[in-house]
Amino acid sequence: MKKPEVLAPAGDLEKLRVAYMYGADACYMGMKSVSMRVKGSTMDIDDIEEALRITRALGKKLYLTMNIYAHENKMNFLEKEIARLKELKKKNLIPDGLLISDPGIMMHVRQECPWIDIHVSTQANTLNSSACEFWAKLGVTRVVLGREVSLREVKQIREKLKEKGIDIELEAFVHGAMCMAYSGRCLLSNFMSSRDANEGMCAHSCRWNYKMFYLEESKRPNEYIPVYEDDEGTSIMSAKDMCMVEHMDDVIDSGIDSAKIEGRHKTVFYTAITSRIYRQAMDLAADGKKPTPELLDLAETINTRGYFTGFWYEKPGAEGQKYTGDLGDYNSKYCFAGVIRKVDGNMADMEVRNTLRKGDRLDIITPTTNIPAELDEFRNASDDRVIDVAHPGQEFTIRFSVSEEVKAGYVVRKHI
Ligand code: SF4
Repeated sequence: MKKPEVLAPAGDLEKLRVAYMYGADACYMGMKSVSMRVKGSTMDIDDIEEALRITRALGKKLYLTMNIYAHENKMNFLEKEIARLKELKKKNLIPDGLLISDPGIMMHVRQECPWIDIHVSTQANTLNSSACEFWAKLGVTRVVLGREVSLREVKQIREKLKEKGIDIELEAFVHGAMCMAYSGRCLLSNFMSSRDANEGMCAHSCRWNYKMFYLEESKRPNEYIPVYEDDEGTSIMSAKDMCMVEHMDDVIDSGIDSAKIEGRHKTVFYTAITSRIYRQAMDLAADGKKPTPELLDLAETINTRGYFTGFWYEKPGAEGQKYTGDLGDYNSKYCFAGVIRKVDGNMADMEVRNTLRKGDRLDIITPTTNIPAELDEFRNASDDRVIDVAHPGQEFTIRFSVSEEVKAGYVVRKHI
């Protein structure tokens, strides 16, 4: 069975470089005005040009997202983005695919930029082989399946497409945040904070704490939905995060072409960690091996709402929800210490992202392993003064010694 590509989110150029450094085969990033995850995670045209040059130099793939469902006033922006894609073509820079969900946007892009492959975004909620066939007949080359499709269904879809001789790639999420609705088809965020989920501005209102006494559906008198409440209140629509790292053998077996990691708006730390986890887990699974304990521990390095396997094996019940405790992203073992910016011999300069103190235990995360480091002594990199504490902010950089070869761009975690 073919090994799917590892597809990582790239909210900016730094994340793009890091994703590739940590093993991603491909990245996806947003075009400014017509992309989900608009806030703080979309590129202007100069950035996209640079991203395409980086991608071509490394022999990787880059997909651009234009996946909002557009209100009429947003369609003006589309013309600008199409003009930009034409400018890129003149420079022989062609993205490997455009992720689209709105049929109107798809029609315009097909007419104006026929040289670019169209991928149907997960926002279009494609759940079956007939829907894939429909998209294939419109010239779409890849479908991003809805997160609600199970492993059994992915295999059936792949099999039926093969039987019908329909050549279309399948992409599916293997990691990241879940939506309580069919990816973004909900108005909670619009009502509660005037932020439109289908324009990339979801406030994740489904995960907020709500005070309530009981939840009862009148026509199902004997089916009680558990409602747990602590001092903070409760959350009844608070999905955990998908994590398929232990099941990449099944992901390969499913027949998908691309294994996608969610989270363009998340930190460069998240991008590095998830890219490495899925690169290594995918390669191990292709060799018939399970992920190592170190790799599983790495999955616990990033902030999470708790993991489950999404819809891959069965429709999730209560185990897929986080009802109590801190309902935000949380991690009790590690935090993001910083990013190595410069290396000179055995001295590394690290941009600080969380408060560091003398004696802290760090791990430098490389693309293949973790290098432990003790902060017995460290300096302010700007004046070489020995210091005992470093706070994040204003690009504060510390200098400390490392025992093995490290590179600029490596991320570092701190043991809490
Ligand atoms: S509020 Fe929750 S359910 Fe609604 S679109 Fe956002 S993530 Fe999905």
